[in-house]
Amino acid sequence: MKAVLHINIHKLKENAQLLNRACQNQGIDIMAVTKGFSAHPILANALAESGLSYLADARIENLIKLQDIDLPKVLLRMTAPSEIQKVIQYADISLQSELKTIHMLSKEADTQGKTHSIILMADVGELREGVLPDDIMTTVAEILTYPSISIKGLGTTLTCVSGVIPDPDNLGQLLELSHEIESRFNLNLDIVSGGNSSSYYLVEDESIPFGINNLRLGEVLLLGRETAYGRQIQGLHDDVFTFEAEIVELKSKPSLPQGKIGMDAFGRTPVFEDKGIMTRALLAIGLQDVEADQLTPLDGDADIIGASSDYILVDLTHTKSKYKIGDTLKFKVDYGGMMRLMSSEFVVKQFHYE
Ligand SMILES: *Cc1c(COP(=O)(O)O)cnc(C)c1O
Repeated sequence: MKAVLHINIHKLKENAQLLNRACQNQGIDIMAVTKGFSAHPILANALAESGLSYLADARIENLIKLQDIDLPKVLLRMTAPSEIQKVIQYADISLQSELKTIHMLSKEADTQGKTHSIILMADVGELREGVLPDDIMTTVAEILTYPSISIKGLGTTLTCVSGVIPDPDNLGQLLELSHEIESRFNLNLDIVSGGNSSSYYLVEDESIPFGINNLRLGEVLLLGRETAYGRQIQGLHDDVFTFEAEIVELKSKPSLPQGKIGMDAFGRTPVFEDKGIMTRALLAIGLQDVEADQLTPLDGDADIIGASSDYILVDLTHTKSKYKIGDTLKFKVDYGGMMRLMSSEFVVKQFHYE
């Protein structure tokens, strides 16, 4: 079976280099977020070679895969008490928001003879992870009593669950908090991390508040798209990842199913429009590997009809190319599609270097 995720390392490096130049010009270091590609070492190495400063992932298992790459590793997801030992062992820096967890990290760091660095997360409106601004100072005061923790910086996450857009107000609030921590506790915070790909538009507009010196970038790096407004960034490749799947049935059939319509394989009730007789193709890839709406056919005349666990159905009635059994269709993928296809064991990953 031919289900291939093509990964263009050359284009990935070009994306990384362009973003790095743009960010460095405004005093911003990039944490390259590797979770979109399950921290595959070939891609992570390409990012390291492009001059990015840190590798970051939400999963400690992924950071373990990256341990041989000589860049600081950053754990993005709030630490589970059950993974404290691994976090101390494999993460150089972790994002944190809970005193109880930070206290446990301090004890374990002490046991392992280490000092562990954290970026304290502040919630400036998104209501995902983070300490509310009113509680930041007491939280910092408490952390400073933990002997084996070093507060390396302050950070925030925006536009992930609630869709709050980063702007000079909420990032300004983050900066103010960082200044207050520095003066009140006579501390120096190395990192003020102003969010993810949704903050990148502020770099493009050159309106990111001065003092934000770090962004954690996944989607814009991998797909060339900022995520506050969903704009494609000029000069960045949107086809580092392309997917190819094989046609296993190709027939002229009606567009309207016959019989009473109940639920599909996933409990949804499908609706159909009568478009007459269609050329319908079944591709040997399905919902176990990717969602149909995460793919966009490169052949602009092909339309995805639907999917079940092992097939994606495509309408090829209006295509100029004449497809046959065994031919493949190619697709662009979105962030979720890239993630799903990277982690499917049924999808071959093929690397291209030019
Ligand atoms: C996933 C993640 C990112 C990267 O997000 P993108 O939108 O892909 O840039 C940054 N920070 C945290 C905490 C994350 O979990």
